[in-house]
Amino acid sequence: MTEPHLNLIAGAWVAGDHLSENRNPSDISDVIGLYAAATAGDVDRAATAAAGAQPSWFAQGPQPRADLLDRVAARIEAAATEIGTMLAREEGKILPEAIAEVRRAAQIFRFFAGEALRIPGEALASVRPGVDVEVTREPVGVVGLITPWNFPAAIPAWKIAPALAYGNAVVLKPADLVPGTAHLLARILHEAGCPAGVFNLVMGPGSVVGRAMIDHPLITAISFTGSAVTGKTIARAAVEGMKKIQLEMGGKNPMVVMDDADLDTAVAACLNGAFFSTGQRCTASSRLIVQAGIHDRFVERLSEQAAALRVGPALAAESQMGPVVSTAQLQGNLDYVALARTEGCEVLGGERLNGPTEGYFQRPALFLGARNDMRVAREEIFGPCAAVICVADFDEALAVANDSPFGLSAGICTGSLKHARAFKRGAKAGMVMVNLPTAGVDYHVPFGGTKSSSYGPREQGRHAVEFYTTVKTAYSFAG
Ligand code: NAD
Repeated sequence: MTEPHLNLIAGAWVAGDHLSENRNPSDISDVIGLYAAATAGDVDRAATAAAGAQPSWFAQGPQPRADLLDRVAARIEAAATEIGTMLAREEGKILPEAIAEVRRAAQIFRFFAGEALRIPGEALASVRPGVDVEVTREPVGVVGLITPWNFPAAIPAWKIAPALAYGNAVVLKPADLVPGTAHLLARILHEAGCPAGVFNLVMGPGSVVGRAMIDHPLITAISFTGSAVTGKTIARAAVEGMKKIQLEMGGKNPMVVMDDADLDTAVAACLNGAFFSTGQRCTASSRLIVQAGIHDRFVERLSEQAAALRVGPALAAESQMGPVVSTAQLQGNLDYVALARTEGCEVLGGERLNGPTEGYFQRPALFLGARNDMRVAREEIFGPCAAVICVADFDEALAVANDSPFGLSAGICTGSLKHARAFKRGAKAGMVMVNLPTAGVDYHVPFGGTKSSSYGPREQGRHAVEFYTTVKTAYSFAG
């Protein structure tokens, strides 16, 4: 272990009031590093620095912003293995997934380097003769970004990049389990020449650092990704301060498998959707809604492949699924496995596994014979657990898919254009997949959901402009 990693405030690396460590969930004896926990005072200094730096960052015009984001993209790409190794070590996803996530972060920075040059506006004729109307977009000011542990590179990237592209200054608080990846990103932004105060990193617990950000009067907007429970708490407090908010929260994503599906395609989509990244994706398929005619063949094939997945340390070349992120998350998953039995499901897998090192390893779990009114089918588990619900026909499948408090991603495997079309139109979700896993999205198009999954404007793609800018209407009369 090397020296402590500090917060980045006003262009300087600053100690907090204590240090906290991140540990490797594949090997809990491996302490990765020590990270400075920020205080409310640090948040105040970061927000003040950001508010001071933001006007000139915007006033310079888009070229320096595009250039910075481009340089950051190149540096992230060049460091993909280093950052990916940190990500795999602290979060637990297997190294190829971790490196792919880091590359995605680079792509996002490069995309928004272009968007900085394409900030949309309108010029219209006024209803009053001789008057011109212009509608322009301006930055919202200082944006507070609060991120979860499951995508420690991609989620900060898809918030930082548009925030900076549109001329805002940023205060980022990463999840306390994964400060290492965020710290590497912050170092890249700093070394790529981000002006002092334009990007600030404050690490530490949500109850202290996150809360101070939400309460801070100079932070004018909050973009949050995390659980629905935290999201609601943040929303109430942020509205009190009249802040603009964007919340991306949980899911209980349905994947419908119709009798007319290609079995191999359906099994591959469900295996990926339910268990890759250890099921720790907000878009994971956690309800597999399967038509009766294909049900038994599907379950037989999927359960064989799930049982064969090699669960092991994130950095081991042979691992196909890494550990669960933490002891608390593992215990929560095991509690849901027990609950599935109590609720009457037949459970395949789901037990804790021993690895070559002491870590939070768990076998993928399928809850067979589930009903959609069971808690295991309604509550987000956020682990490698999927409930299998048998349905009679398309109408029942769609009704079950939509009967959820969440509405992030929904998928269908079918060979029928009619079913695919009806599902795309009828699914109450922000993202719909046909013959593809519910998880796995492109970075140049909107991301987000409906109901308890999302609140506020969409993230990613050019739609990000909605949250990170505010609209100004100017009238002028030339005389
Ligand atoms: P979490 O809600 O526990 O924490 C998210 C972030 O909020 C962390 O940085 C945390 O420190 C901070 N926080 C906690 N309490 C706070 C408070 N009172 N005030 C301010 N900040 C606070 O979520 P998590 O466990 O890190 O992540 C898992 C959740 O994230 C899952 O529910 C998952 O579905 C969701 N998620 C959603 C998306 C999406 O885009 N919809 C993407 C990834 C993860």
